[in-house]
Amino acid sequence: MNTINKTQSQQAIDLENKYGAHNYHPLPVVLSKGEGVYVWDVDGKQYYDFLSAYSAVNQGHCHPKIVNTLVEQSKRLALTSRAFYNDMLGKYEKYACEYFGFDKLLPMNTGAEAVETALKICRRWAYEKKGISENKAEIIVCKNNFHGRTTTIISFSNDPVARTHFGPYTNGFIKIEYDNLQELETTLKTNPNVAGFLVEPIQGEAGVYVPSEGYLKQAKALCKKYNVLFIADEVQTGIARTGKLLAVQHEDVVPDILILGKAMSGGAYPISAVLANNDIMNVITPGSHGSTFGGNPVAAAVAIAALTVVKEENLAENAEKLGQLFRNKMNEYITKSNIVRLVRGKGLLNAIVINEEVESETAWNICLRLRDNGLLAKPTHGNIIRFAPPLVMTQEQLLDCVVIITKTLTEFER
Ligand SMILES: *Cc1c(COP(=O)(O)O)cnc(C)c1O
Repeated sequence: MNTINKTQSQQAIDLENKYGAHNYHPLPVVLSKGEGVYVWDVDGKQYYDFLSAYSAVNQGHCHPKIVNTLVEQSKRLALTSRAFYNDMLGKYEKYACEYFGFDKLLPMNTGAEAVETALKICRRWAYEKKGISENKAEIIVCKNNFHGRTTTIISFSNDPVARTHFGPYTNGFIKIEYDNLQELETTLKTNPNVAGFLVEPIQGEAGVYVPSEGYLKQAKALCKKYNVLFIADEVQTGIARTGKLLAVQHEDVVPDILILGKAMSGGAYPISAVLANNDIMNVITPGSHGSTFGGNPVAAAVAIAALTVVKEENLAENAEKLGQLFRNKMNEYITKSNIVRLVRGKGLLNAIVINEEVESETAWNICLRLRDNGLLAKPTHGNIIRFAPPLVMTQEQLLDCVVIITKTLTEFER
């Protein structure tokens, strides 16, 4: 690495440190280009991207079909606001509703906004359809959830880093253990004011916790029994990431409310959406909810392109196949490893757990070494490293990555 280029990346880091709020702790690498499964830093060094912007880039970096759509639509019409109709939104809504199997879609921009939207729809449904007394509705959530960063959402987080000194918090949430059907049923049975159950099909940020087989199916059945809406946050797990279009489809579950974000645009644009059938979505009336940018023509066009790519390139099937291969290869390694405790995940949403305390810095140091060896990943919650490459990866590339990962881990064996 020559010193001029080193200065270039240090300059970029210094600028962020000086002028940017310190709300992230990035891995020290400065990226300036991406294509498919690869990203390049300012020195021109190439890396495999094993984060995919938290699964926003499932379709691969700068996918030509998505980028062309973005450019063409931006030149034609970018924003009208919802004060007027535009000629793209309806097309997108129809496309996405048929694609995911729902009657209606409500367009937003970020994942957190879509979660907020789902919570509002659920509460309205509780008062207008279920008949819960005003201001009494409760929504069940799970411990160690991650649903975004708004004040209401962090109100039902149990991560002190996300919550501390952001109170007072929003009421109306009951926290239960994830993957615990008994606690879900007890809570539903003893509380007639429950309106919804908000759940991640796999807890991504918490460390890729895959619930027991049958959990989602039985949770959905319990919700039905107690007339409670099953709300699936598929912002991270959705859109082919786990080897199916939606992670709930592994258990043939159809949520009452579906929340999507991230890969809705393949990373090109912030696009999120809430889908539900008419009996639920019709509680939303003119003026009751909105967003200046939500459903703009660029977002509509880009989302159609991004969802089309997922089907055309069989990304769900590829994620399923490569995910199996990845876990097999990692398990082979783990049988003779002291440093890696286990690998878990579904499709290409996986994580390894480092055999150390949560506070240990080993996972971070492994990620630094992975970076040196040409692969970018990041720890989530201390001793866990998430591996989530773009779903356009080939088998040959994946095997190449397995070599990089196992070679790097070998350096940390004791
Ligand atoms: C990332 C994420 C969100 C929040 O999405 P933003 O676009 O960052 O607001 C919500 N839920 C889950 C499960 C996520 O992974």
